[in-house]
Amino acid sequence: MCGVIGICSKSNVSTSLFYGMNSLQHRGQEAAGMAVYDGEEIRRTRSMGLVIDAFTEEKLRELPGTIGIGHVRYATASGSHDYNIQPLMGFIGGEMIALASDGNLVNYQILRERLEEEGMMFQTTSDTEVILYLITRYYDGDIVEAIKKTMKVIRGAYSVTALVKDKVVAFRDPHGFRPFVLGRDGDDVIVASENAAIEIIGGEMTRNVEAGEILVIDGTGIHSDRFESEATARNCIFEYVYFARNDATLDDINAYTFRRRCGEILWEEAPCDVDLVVPVPDSGIPSAIGYAQAAGIPYGEGLVKNRYMGRTFIKPTQKEREMAVKLKLNPLVDVVKGKSIVLLDDSIVRGTTSRNLIKRLRDAGAREVHMRITSPPVAYSCYYGIDTPNRKNLIAANQSIQEIEENIGADSLAFISLEGLAKAGKKDVSEYCTACFDGDYPVDPTLI
Ligand code: 5GP
Ligand code: MG
Repeated sequence: MCGVIGICSKSNVSTSLFYGMNSLQHRGQEAAGMAVYDGEEIRRTRSMGLVIDAFTEEKLRELPGTIGIGHVRYATASGSHDYNIQPLMGFIGGEMIALASDGNLVNYQILRERLEEEGMMFQTTSDTEVILYLITRYYDGDIVEAIKKTMKVIRGAYSVTALVKDKVVAFRDPHGFRPFVLGRDGDDVIVASENAAIEIIGGEMTRNVEAGEILVIDGTGIHSDRFESEATARNCIFEYVYFARNDATLDDINAYTFRRRCGEILWEEAPCDVDLVVPVPDSGIPSAIGYAQAAGIPYGEGLVKNRYMGRTFIKPTQKEREMAVKLKLNPLVDVVKGKSIVLLDDSIVRGTTSRNLIKRLRDAGAREVHMRITSPPVAYSCYYGIDTPNRKNLIAANQSIQEIEENIGADSLAFISLEGLAKAGKKDVSEYCTACFDGDYPVDPTLI
């Protein structure tokens, strides 16, 4: 899981890229990188850490140029190495190319082994390098043709921005798993994972980069091409459940509206007679508002969030995860004492968050703690870029809802139905990728 941005402008872009990347920070906090073309060569800066730590004003000044791309990288359990920080760079027809991707290729290992047998030396352990390598291999003077040939070979999820000489190139896999939008600011053209990156720099989102679409953007405008495939769009539903910002309007559905509706639908599906509706901040807030309004029950902030923690989901050990939840959220005794409450969260993955919060809310004096979750049980691993752990660590892959209810110590527990979830997005279940909930994988993950 990552965030990407590309800008083609008439003025310097490094500062705009910096702001845009900041607004995509929720998509990845491990590392950040930027590549800018100055008319002669591509310069690049990459660093571990948050965007704000990775780039000083001085560093931005060292990246002059009117066309550039940026990337924020998500921390995964597989460890972080500076050689994996994107954008990656190479040479194509004797010119420099820089490339960054959000998503995950399911046939990365197979392709890598094949390429290694052929004598290719890899410099990273990132699947983005396979994309870069294949494009340069297939390049014969026509970048779109090279991308089409690459798209024939790679399988899985990818929203890619690349800098090819004086052009920004953007392409999205035929299922459109990961989000990707296009916008304008006057004559400037911007592509980004989410619209906030466009709006923050003064631009306006104009449309989605379509599933299977290839865009070439330069001083003459936007040229759209299409990779022909049998696949139909299957946008990741977990982007709406959890990952995207509330202000993200992805494939024509706004994440905040989606989340509120989930709360309303969950009230219809699993009502609860309590004094107070409490969100698990921040991800549970819109759905708790929806639930409370539909129910006519007061909404109350029963947990205080430490804003300086970042996303702490992927800590290597269970002990660290428990401590992280404690540090991140603390019960507000004055609000919950003596009350029966229903707690709203977007998902249960390992169960760490719910178990910990329910216990501490009871310690803080809550009389009853019910739990309502605005996604179905996460029972399958994601192979398309969401960092769900191995199935053996997914509580819902191993326990029934009844068992989970006991395990987390809730007075009652209910999950929204898959149909209810899809209804919140005003689409049919089959129009989304719902593999993490039902194991229906649009691209065969056994290719791994
Ligand atoms: P659990 O504690 O059950 O393992 O995880 C559930 C919590 O993690 C929920 O509060 C949810 O908002 C959050 N969460 C779910 N998926 C992700 C993810 O991909 N990344 C991060 N950082 N948090 C997640
Ligand atoms: Mg959460």
